[in-house]
Amino acid sequence: MNLRKYGKKLGYEVSALGLGCMRLPRKTDAEGKMIVDREKAYELIRYAAQNGINYFDTAYGYHNQTSEEVLGEALEGGLREKVKIATKQPFNVMTTQGDIRRNLENTLKKLRTDYIDVYLIHNIQAPFWDEIKRRKVIEEYEKFRAEGLIRGIAFSYHGEFPCFKDVLSFYDWDMAQIQQNLVDIDHEATEEAIRMAGEKGTAMVIMEPLRGGGLALPPAPVKKIYDEVAPGRSGVEWAFRHLLNYPEVSTILSGMTTMEQLKENIAIFSKPDAVAGCLSAAEKQALLRAKTTYESMTAVPCTGCEYCLPCPQGVSIPGVFSGYNEGFMFENFAQPQRSYMFMTRRGADASKCVECGACEAKCPQQIAIVAELKKAHAKLSGWVE
Ligand code: SF4
Ligand code: SF4
Repeated sequence: MNLRKYGKKLGYEVSALGLGCMRLPRKTDAEGKMIVDREKAYELIRYAAQNGINYFDTAYGYHNQTSEEVLGEALEGGLREKVKIATKQPFNVMTTQGDIRRNLENTLKKLRTDYIDVYLIHNIQAPFWDEIKRRKVIEEYEKFRAEGLIRGIAFSYHGEFPCFKDVLSFYDWDMAQIQQNLVDIDHEATEEAIRMAGEKGTAMVIMEPLRGGGLALPPAPVKKIYDEVAPGRSGVEWAFRHLLNYPEVSTILSGMTTMEQLKENIAIFSKPDAVAGCLSAAEKQALLRAKTTYESMTAVPCTGCEYCLPCPQGVSIPGVFSGYNEGFMFENFAQPQRSYMFMTRRGADASKCVECGACEAKCPQQIAIVAELKKAHAKLSGWVE
């Protein structure tokens, strides 16, 4: 397993591959609910820790608040001391300073540890950033650090670059965790975010490197491009090498569910040439062509500009189209349908549209939004869990 530096502040050396504990193996319980399959999860986590992975990422909310507990149980008995644990507290459970502390104490108990190597504010979003500052969350985290309960202070982020820049510049973070992958390089926090974090000495951790698994199995036109340069190399390896190429990236998190995935990924990240600067000019060109090909496979030319918002009914128009397009791009609607289920629970799905037409007049792409929303709803509905 190749090791990489973790920014310039904490002095950690971490495995280039980190285990994300949000997609642990699951099973159905006696009441028909999906729960973590603990025996399989223990096996997976322990194998990872014994075979070179020394970075584990979890969060307060993953797997209905059981992920931290499963990780803690799996690492008990000698493995915990050998690895770094990063976990996150979401802002929506930080009602008071007392809550922030109680949540951390609860997390420490679940993880069966006295300290957390990196503690994140989970999923900072532009609408809440001012409130996070006003509520003095970072100051609270600093108290935890002074008490030895946490070692690094960090944040995870899923939004656009301007707010990322604002958050990154505001504080001397130990780490920033962003979604990045081949097809999101112009979206989300972007390549510029990786460069900025590197300049600041902030460790950069990448999540969703395979875009929810979508990049693992390239469609025929993308596979053809890949095979011209490196015949037989898997889509998974292409996606990982794209990110490994950035020297600023410390760890790439992958939510592995099976031993097969875990072993395949460990092998990729252990290759001597799977290091920063690993891409040749021909490989970079192939990745650019692959990205353009993926983009050409979308159903709606939505750029995510958000000019159509706000919708008076609360429909997340670009969010709906993003999932719809993702299904076409990766020829797989499972992940978009699952995300759409959460959107529906928030009341932001396409079924809330009353066809007022206000959004269509504002769309620079002149998308027939009402009609496309109906098609997207039909394709994305139906996920149950
Ligand atoms: S047409 Fe539908 S999606 Fe567009 S603004 Fe009106 S209610 Fe919202
Ligand atoms: S205005 Fe059009 S292109 Fe922009 S997010 Fe809305 S639907 Fe997409």
